[in-house]
Amino acid sequence: MENNAQKKDEQELLTVSSGEMFQPYDWSVGKFGSKFLHELKENKKLFGSKCPKCGRVFIPPRKVCGQCYVAMDEFVPVSDEGEVYVCAIIQFGFVDPETGKQRPVPYGYAFIKLDGADTCLTHFVDSVDPEKFKVGARVRAVFEEKRKGSLMDIKHFELVD
Ligand SMILES: [Zn+2]
Repeated sequence: MENNAQKKDEQELLTVSSGEMFQPYDWSVGKFGSKFLHELKENKKLFGSKCPKCGRVFIPPRKVCGQCYVAMDEFVPVSDEGEVYVCAIIQFGFVDPETGKQRPVPYGYAFIKLDGADTCLTHFVDSVDPEKFKVGARVRAVFEEKRKGSLMDIKHFELVD
């Protein structure tokens, strides 16, 4: 009886298509974002901003230190190598907003603390081996050949032996 009641309540899940949308937009990344993206695009260099009070280095660079509430105006170079701080091996797909295409699974994703920085950068890692891709693993940025001024100018990070 209970099974019949459950079956009666089960309904096919329906979807409704809203059609296709295309909404291009631009926004200013400001002085700090521009410096960061320019150096990444032109020189394959990563820059953060350094707090004059506590000395923390933020990447991507920010204008104000959230700990001290003071303005930061010093850009400092940060290594393109660092350590995996948090990681996940993603097993389900999603539509990559950069490409509009389904990202192939599985893939690695991590919070990476670059040498010389006090904050983490989130990015893809080209490993799905849980024996190697784990917290504490060393990784290095792999840059795109043709860069356009986007965080995706870093193709992904690769494990460093
Ligand atoms: Zn500070």
